[in-house]
Amino acid sequence: MRLIITASSTALFATWVFIENFGVLLDAGDGVSACLGQKSRKVRHVFVTHADRDHICGLLQLNQLNARDGIPAIYFPQDCGSFPALKDFFAKFDPQSGAATWTGLQADAVVNLKGEFSVEARKSNHVIAGDLCKALDYTICSQRRTLKTEYRNLPGREIAELRAAQGEEAITEVRTEKLIGYSGDAPELESEHWDGVRILIHEATFLEPETARSSHSNLPQVLRAASKLQLEALILIHFSARYAQEEIEAAIRTQAASLSPNFPIFAVYPGEVKTDILASVPVWEPNSSAIG
Ligand SMILES: [Zn+2]
Repeated sequence: MRLIITASSTALFATWVFIENFGVLLDAGDGVSACLGQKSRKVRHVFVTHADRDHICGLLQLNQLNARDGIPAIYFPQDCGSFPALKDFFAKFDPQSGAATWTGLQADAVVNLKGEFSVEARKSNHVIAGDLCKALDYTICSQRRTLKTEYRNLPGREIAELRAAQGEEAITEVRTEKLIGYSGDAPELESEHWDGVRILIHEATFLEPETARSSHSNLPQVLRAASKLQLEALILIHFSARYAQEEIEAAIRTQAASLSPNFPIFAVYPGEVKTDILASVPVWEPNSSAIG
């Protein structure tokens, strides 16, 4: 499946990421409806990482334009009081709009999408609040039944015989693939947390560790930790608006050249709406560190 990912993300101002294949919106910052236009009607599930305004302020317009018959389904961290408050406010402010569905998620909750796909929520360290769940990150997974390894090289006829004799479940196993990981805001990239993810969308608010604040990531740490993963692509978002595009590009290229990660790196620059990110030219590609 070719994943179509469109995003806009500027730290402090607005962050949203639309995974068109699944009708999934990850966070809903200001401007999401204006930028997606008619495509905003394709949003069926909204997974919000936390209640900071730059991740939720697009919900009002999205709801006003598109809510109908329980769609979109809006998911949020269970212990954030802001979301029930928003739900009540939306109902009063836009009584003519259809109703979305609002669901609080605990850490490790799994939400089924269409077919073999699902979204897993996990606790994020962006907001530390004891046992309360106030920030989540999300992983889009697929679960497919495939032949067990020992049967894979058998001729079709033998497999059919085995299936008839032993049943489907005896010769197959459920394989989970982690297609896309989305950090939301995070203090750092934890490699173990994202192990096995194919495409990682991670924040990198600051280019230098020394300017980093504890609840946000910095580029050197993100790239070092990401290099330990077997990714197909890394998409960096949520850069601070203090950096120009050229500064961000130069920092990624210089740092990636010394780490030589074996996956391409894409970046969403402050103020930019990047359409179909994986079809765009990466900032850095393996074996071509001399780009630009
Ligand atoms: Zn943010």
